[in-house]
Amino acid sequence: MIFNIQRFSTHDGDGIRTVIFYKGCPLRCLWCSNPESQSFDYSVMYDKSRCKNFGDCIKADNKTITRIKNNGIQINRELIKKPEKLKNVCASKALTISGESKSVDELLAEIEKDTPFYQNGGGVTLSGGEPLSHGEELITLLQKLKERNINVNIETSLYVNWRNVDKCIGLVNTFLVDLKHTDKDKFKSFTQGDAGLVMDNLIKLTDSETHVIVRIPVIPGFNFSENEMKQIIEFVTSLKNVNEIHFLPYHTYGVEKYKMLGLNYTFGNKKQIQDSELLPFIQYAQSKGLKTKIGG
Ligand code: SF4
Repeated sequence: MIFNIQRFSTHDGDGIRTVIFYKGCPLRCLWCSNPESQSFDYSVMYDKSRCKNFGDCIKADNKTITRIKNNGIQINRELIKKPEKLKNVCASKALTISGESKSVDELLAEIEKDTPFYQNGGGVTLSGGEPLSHGEELITLLQKLKERNINVNIETSLYVNWRNVDKCIGLVNTFLVDLKHTDKDKFKSFTQGDAGLVMDNLIKLTDSETHVIVRIPVIPGFNFSENEMKQIIEFVTSLKNVNEIHFLPYHTYGVEKYKMLGLNYTFGNKKQIQDSELLPFIQYAQSKGLKTKIGG
């Protein structure tokens, strides 16, 4: 299942790219700016500011959606059996369903619409969520893209079984690997995952001589300190075949989506990080011989 296709992107790789966002992620990063990407299932989103109280959603499912005193609705998401049936019931797009089930051939057809624009190294970036959690369907898509000589980048946390990564080697041009922290306790408490698995996979992947760019989300209260960033950069410099590192400064663009999903944004009221605040990290990484960039 995917939740978005972004065309003509100039991020996440060279040239003009089609970015496919897969739905489902095994991590739960507290700062995640795409919370709708975390569930492997459909997500019901409600934007109260767009609601005109037409009540079409209530007519579609009056057991799980109820009106609140003529001003908005209450949704009992756990009881909704077939969220996909609520797609397109709301004319004002206050109620939307994130998630679209697409076969490999359907995805390929979407990608092929854009192939005339894939010059200067452009192509497809598979993002998420976690694309490497998508098993055989992902491998089939990668094989078909390779047959068509389409450049492919995968954006991944590497928080998956090594077999899922191994199967992609040779089918992917560049892995854009998010390395969030090298401290296992910090990683666990902020993402619910295991930094050991990520680092082991990253060592194996870079040993395979695949092209890897490491990307560090710089997050206040998590890894935004000189010591922690130095530790992470040191780990990157210990890897074989990695000569480029990107710093992705924390932003708050996704905060509203938590409300729309009926979730709390528990990360708190943190300030966005300015590019200028990354300069010491950039200088340190460059002093270690790494090519650097701010942003994806
Ligand atoms: S790995 Fe990415 S998609 Fe998954 S929870 Fe973390 S920030 Fe969100």
